[in-house]
Amino acid sequence: MGEEEDKQNIVIAIDGFSSTGKSTIAKQLAKQLNYIYVDTGAMYRAVTYFALENHLIGEGFFHSEQLIEKLDGINITFRFNEALGFAEVYLNGKNIEKAIRTLKVSSYVSLVSTISEVRQKLVEQQQLMGKDKGIVMDGRDIGTVVFPEAELKIFMRASAETRAQRRYKELLERGHNLSYNDVLENVTTRDQIDSTREDSPLVKADDAIEIDNSDLTIEEQIKTILEMVYDQRS
Ligand code: C5P
Repeated sequence: MGEEEDKQNIVIAIDGFSSTGKSTIAKQLAKQLNYIYVDTGAMYRAVTYFALENHLIGEGFFHSEQLIEKLDGINITFRFNEALGFAEVYLNGKNIEKAIRTLKVSSYVSLVSTISEVRQKLVEQQQLMGKDKGIVMDGRDIGTVVFPEAELKIFMRASAETRAQRRYKELLERGHNLSYNDVLENVTTRDQIDSTREDSPLVKADDAIEIDNSDLTIEEQIKTILEMVYDQRS
């Protein structure tokens, strides 16, 4: 990559509510810009998967102190899968990309994400991944905490029903057996916990551009954001 091109690389932070299509948009943007894409939700899901596997969280209990003690033993990495066209997440060398997308993991992840020690570890890793810019990162606190100096910040919203419908369809297509109401409840509960937690709550950064994509196609969103990127870099 030439020096000129390097200089133009920016950090794109995409935050927003659950199932607003952040990762779909972020993945495609990264592909078109030849940027790295990082799904930070996958990292919080990986820690949650670890907590579930080690019986540190479950129905009616959460041994958060024990999880904090074991954090050094959690190694999260991403490996690009050529066939899929995106990087899959690995926990201590094991591919857990599919395992972290279940409703079970979704129903505990927001609780795990309230723990400051967990956030600290993951934010540090995220900041390292973006130090050379040329990155699209999606999550809840990217524009506010991880990269407050990001050149472009997007904040996505859509009605809860639209989001639950999208997630429901996606989970059904992946072969999960669940009801629309379970998905709707999970989406709204997660939003509530994510928006009200003490450490790094989900809020729109003052300088983020808000996009309500309830009635927008993916193509329309990509086109709009790419125009913002080109404006930013020119
Ligand atoms: O993006 P995704 O829906 O996979 O994120 C799962 C959960 O991880 C969120 O509901 C939130 O609790 C947590 N998360 C977070 N901070 C981020 C990304 C995700 O707290 N940057």
